Amino acid sequence: MTRTCEVCGNASERVLEIAVGGKPHVFDSFECAIQALAPRCAHCACRIMGHGIEAEGRVFCCAHCAGRVVATEDAGLA
Ligand SMILES: [Zn+2]
Ligand SMILES: [Zn+2]
Repeated sequence: MTRTCEVCGNASERVLEIAVGGKPHVFDSFECAIQALAPRCAHCACRIMGHGIEAEGRVFCCAHCAGRVVATEDAGLA
């Protein structure tokens, strides 16, 4: 039985099923799963495939990006 990737539309018998918040998603590859589900860094907009870093209610790819945004906003408030 084939199922269709919800990102690229490719039909495959070996799909990845990933449930997010109880809602199931179907992908044919990790690439498509990342495309659909991975959050973006609030500073450099790259895909976050690891744990990421949360700061000021947003998610960043690394401490460098988190520090850049927080420092910039602190400077703006001063
Ligand atoms: Zn796909
Ligand atoms: Zn970043």
